[in-house]
Amino acid sequence: MEQIKTYTNCPVCEGILLSEFMTLPDHMITKEIFKIVNCNSCGFHFTNPIPSEEFIGNYYKSENYISHSSSKSGLINKAYNVVRNITLKRKVNLVSRLAKGKNLLDIGSGTGHFLNASRISGFQVQGLEPDQDAKDFAKKEFGLSLQNLSEIQTMASDSKDVITMWHVLEHVYHLKRDLKEFVRVLKKDGVFIVAVPNMSSWDAKHYGSFWAAFDVPRHLYHFQEKTIRNLFSQFEMECVEVLPMKFDAFYVSMLSEKYKSGNIVSGVINGLKSNFNAKSGGFSSQIYVFKKI
Ligand SMILES: [Zn+2]
Repeated sequence: MEQIKTYTNCPVCEGILLSEFMTLPDHMITKEIFKIVNCNSCGFHFTNPIPSEEFIGNYYKSENYISHSSSKSGLINKAYNVVRNITLKRKVNLVSRLAKGKNLLDIGSGTGHFLNASRISGFQVQGLEPDQDAKDFAKKEFGLSLQNLSEIQTMASDSKDVITMWHVLEHVYHLKRDLKEFVRVLKKDGVFIVAVPNMSSWDAKHYGSFWAAFDVPRHLYHFQEKTIRNLFSQFEMECVEVLPMKFDAFYVSMLSEKYKSGNIVSGVINGLKSNFNAKSGGFSSQIYVFKKI
């Protein structure tokens, strides 16, 4: 069995001219070295090569991968949990403002915190999640039954008022194949809300190969506003709103400092700098709101 997958074409535009962008380690778990390349045709950046689909699960196995747990140990994790509650409220307010109806599908629900908060706000919720530990947590903590990603194929077309992907699209192995399915189940007047890290942000440029949100090989794609707009335009979707995720600048900068120097205070300062300098390249992470054209 082949353990790595090498792209010979750009996963967005099929272009064959690829340039090396950066060489960097998996700082969080394995310390293995990976490469990010960019497509000369459309400017899309992606990790290449990547672990094969059968093996990529091995790169998620860590106590540190807190998006899949609710561990309260460590300063960064503590901050993460406090901020999560504020962020949750903002996310629910956003979907409440934008959605025309109450049918919500969250893709990559993790531990189910957002889905639970949305349900309390009156949404009829459905969530997809591949990780069994996260599923078990959502069931035990919130009584939520999250489904496998493949369940998307059983869902009716034009049935969802809102689809959310919070820091998930960069993990989706079969990018265009799966995105096509997600767009299919969205109603004509539905909204598709996608939050991803922004590799054009000040903190991404400042930290370079230490930038925690490159997070190779778990992050397969490295988006910026131009390239995510281009990806969605292929599915007849246009971006109608871009919103900042200001806390991510602090979280990502602190984590980047942990990899680089261990100086958490610099992380806080650089989080501030990133938000202050967001006019040129955007915020550390951004929320993109797409609608069908
Ligand atoms: Zn391309």
